[in-house]
Amino acid sequence: MAEETVFTKIITGKIPSKLLYHDDLVSAFRDISPKAPVHILIVPNKPIPSVNDVAPEDEPAIGRMFSVARKLAADEGIAADGYRLIVNVGKNGGQEVPHLHMHLLGGQVMGALGFRGNGE
Ligand code: AMP
Repeated sequence: MAEETVFTKIITGKIPSKLLYHDDLVSAFRDISPKAPVHILIVPNKPIPSVNDVAPEDEPAIGRMFSVARKLAADEGIAADGYRLIVNVGKNGGQEVPHLHMHLLGGQVMGALGFRGNGE
């Protein structure tokens, strides 16, 4: 069996962390290294490594992640001004933790998306 991800340890309480949201499909908690005044990670409870591994049976969890993003943005008071949702995939996408997650970032103007290089 694959080693548990840090996010699975958070979801199951093996690493102490305050869950902002938890249900049968999805959990959410604050990023340990926030890149904005509000920086929350929304993750499926199932340890799907990345978008590359999403299967049709995961669609309820993926849909729930967006519903939870909407709810948490409202709870955090950033819904009206707007926010950014990011899902990094793999090495080139900058994904560090191999457990699918959505970043919810807000509380400031997020600016243009950053790109390094032009692929040439
Ligand atoms: P990514 O680069 O998309 O894989 O993002 C991984 C995110 O997980 C980073 O923003 C990290 O700061 C965050 N992170 C790593 N370990 C923890 C942890 N123990 N608790 C909360 N966030 C974490």
